[in-house]
Amino acid sequence: MLKLKLHWQILIALGLAVMMGSLTGVDAAIFGLKFYDVYNFLGTLFLNALKMLIVPLIVSAIITGMMGIGASGSLGRLGGKTLVYYMTTSLFAILIGLAVVNMVQPGIVDGEPAKEIIGLSADTSSFEQKVEGKGAGDVAEIFIRMVPPNIVNAAANGQMLGLIFFSLLFGYFLANLQGKKGDTQRDFWQGVFDIMMKITELVMKFAPIGVFGLVAKVIASTGLEAFEPLAMFFFSVLAALLVHFLVTMPLLLAFVGKVNPIAMYRAMAPALLTAFSTSSSSATLPLTMDCVEKNAGVSNKTSSFVLPLGATVNMDGTALYECVAAIFIAQAYGLDLSFAMQFTIVLTALLTSIGVAGIPSASLVAISIILAAIGLPAEGIGLILAVDRVLDMCRTSVNVFSDACGAVILARLEGEKPLQQKA
Ligand code: ASP
Repeated sequence: MLKLKLHWQILIALGLAVMMGSLTGVDAAIFGLKFYDVYNFLGTLFLNALKMLIVPLIVSAIITGMMGIGASGSLGRLGGKTLVYYMTTSLFAILIGLAVVNMVQPGIVDGEPAKEIIGLSADTSSFEQKVEGKGAGDVAEIFIRMVPPNIVNAAANGQMLGLIFFSLLFGYFLANLQGKKGDTQRDFWQGVFDIMMKITELVMKFAPIGVFGLVAKVIASTGLEAFEPLAMFFFSVLAALLVHFLVTMPLLLAFVGKVNPIAMYRAMAPALLTAFSTSSSSATLPLTMDCVEKNAGVSNKTSSFVLPLGATVNMDGTALYECVAAIFIAQAYGLDLSFAMQFTIVLTALLTSIGVAGIPSASLVAISIILAAIGLPAEGIGLILAVDRVLDMCRTSVNVFSDACGAVILARLEGEKPLQQKA
């Protein structure tokens, strides 16, 4: 029987979703059953299945990763390199965004600040509530969240930073636990991790159906008209993301990782398409790990350290978006941005992107922190809400790709040979 590769199946599902979503909208129904509800059902089921995997997968992946690294004494070296990679690529991304938004000036229309023309999107109240009272001091909160007072609570509420920090500590001490106790524990965690990867493979088989549901739902509810007044902003973000995705990353892959970038796109296709459909790096993590290990050939030791950490900490697309969005809103409000202010934006974007959770629309809260830092009202966020969802899909793919490239590049720097057979 003809069996299409998974990424082709997902691509076809995407195409069908765009078609069906725009044809049916939110109201069309057949035999009293709304198409929209069917999309919602399929999408939610898939998303739930992915989310179900996150906590045990992150915990077991980090613990087994630390077991390998901790025992070989390479933790400090790999940890240091990983952080340098995360910081530099995020900074590159932000600077690309900064350059594009200053060049295109999407917030200025015919020489006038565009606030009146765009108008605030209708429903901003829920976001205003969420972001009310956020200030630059909230950056410190990111570090507080790293040490959760209650680990079970952190897991239940999806506070990944806390969970990661705890798992890192646990894995580190487990790596050094001697004797039978240590062996039993290590076997146990390795077993948990192997099982989680098996369940991931099962969930992956349903990716095309899930992707169809998720994307058809977005298209049906957002429609394509929402984009018109924000077209310049939309394309500025898209252009900047593309530069990072198609220029910066391949250059790093080729020159630092010494691998063929095309092979990397091919290896990561299913994860990238899932990131696009789910708008969540955390939910995509199981697939990211699967693709990086199975298709790109990175060792479990490296990938299970770099990827779970990267899914929360390393968000190039998000950092870039925060910068472009904040400057766009400032332009639209007619604010003249001094060098110091632009610097504040870059720095805050870099720091908040570390703390942003890998879930849909998480950037919005970070953007409100930046707005507060430069003295703009949080309601400015209303200007970008209409296009946020689709840009979220794009930036999440960039986030995931940067994590995966990090795993490949760091594996290479650690003496592994990723992507060799495919290059
Ligand atoms: N949705 C993004 C992610 O999961 C975060 C964001 O930028 O809102 O990577």
